[in-house]
Amino acid sequence: MGVSKLQLSFAECCGLCYNIRQMNELPKEDLERLMARAYAVKTATWGRRVALRGLVEFSNICTKDCLYCGIRRSNANVTRYRMTEDEIVEAATWAAENRYGSVVLQSGEISSEANTAFVEGVLKRIHGLYGDSLGITLSLGEQTRETYGRWKNAGAHRYLLRIETSNRELYSKIHPKGHSWERRLDCLRTLKNLGYIVGTGVMIGLPGQTEADLENDIRFFRDEDVDMIGMGPYLAHPDTPLAAEAPIQAKGRLLALTLRMIAETRLAIPDANIASTTALQAIDPEGREKGLLAGANVIMPNVTPVKYRKSYLLYPGKPCTGEESELCRSCLERRVKSVGEEIAWGERADPLHSLPSR
Ligand code: SAH
Ligand code: SF4
Repeated sequence: MGVSKLQLSFAECCGLCYNIRQMNELPKEDLERLMARAYAVKTATWGRRVALRGLVEFSNICTKDCLYCGIRRSNANVTRYRMTEDEIVEAATWAAENRYGSVVLQSGEISSEANTAFVEGVLKRIHGLYGDSLGITLSLGEQTRETYGRWKNAGAHRYLLRIETSNRELYSKIHPKGHSWERRLDCLRTLKNLGYIVGTGVMIGLPGQTEADLENDIRFFRDEDVDMIGMGPYLAHPDTPLAAEAPIQAKGRLLALTLRMIAETRLAIPDANIASTTALQAIDPEGREKGLLAGANVIMPNVTPVKYRKSYLLYPGKPCTGEESELCRSCLERRVKSVGEEIAWGERADPLHSLPSR
């Protein structure tokens, strides 16, 4: 069954009352009602506020070959780059000085000692400058326990690693041999065990993904007790094997589906940090704002130097690739205000879900 017959059915109680809901055939008014309920939960737990994470996409060099990703190892059409240590620290400094409160360092996956030491050095410098006042999140893929530990000791305290889909069989269809769902899960658990604030997420609208898969994705977030969730539509990149296989999804449907998943996730885990992702903005110019109204409370504006942005295309149609961070900042503030929200300037904004008093 494809995504056109999606349906979410929450049988178990998670503190809020769930009814069986038709996922994709939800009339517009019902989606709006669902979003309003999720938004009320968000505002009750977190307020009408949005936390920022300045995203530094510091390298597109990757040893993995995920079948959907534009910067996969086998895509020869990509100009590869890695920012220097100074450039990364400068981008993080810009975010901190502009009161973003947190940065996310993201790249392709590399497991060499040289890369581990490079990241470690960068973290020590950023943490040395701002201490714990600046949140530092990493999104650098699967690594050993030792590597995760070294990076944590160097100053990182949050980690994003999407499970991509909670369905192992589907996972194996969208990855080549040698990429393991079990290893990914193991990494998530290791990160938690090391004391990281852990985020995961999925792509929505993957070829072959069913209603049960999406329902199970939300269960997975709950069962793994994750603190942060980042979900976005799957967008077929023309230079990837998966794009050749699957038809391009209608943007309107992907948008509705993603908003619905955000709203359902907010209802299921009221105190998690949920990102309104850039991929949402790629399918609708106001996608990120709509994500906020569906219950998301985090936005990750890009602070990567403009000269690198067009080389970090995980999916096509990525917005803001030509805009300086300064421009993005004022545009963002205007957009957030337009939906009646305020930016939580300067706040590290760890998820309430991760706080010990919970
Ligand atoms: N290499 C790291 C971080 C960069 S990839 C990692 O894989 O964790 C970050 C995320 O981009 C992935 O987790 C995936 O969910 C998303 N992504 C990659 N290709 C995509 C596509 N074609 N459409 C939508 N999201 C995509
Ligand atoms: Fe590499 Fe991440 Fe893309 Fe997979 S999703 S190919 S690990 S950058």
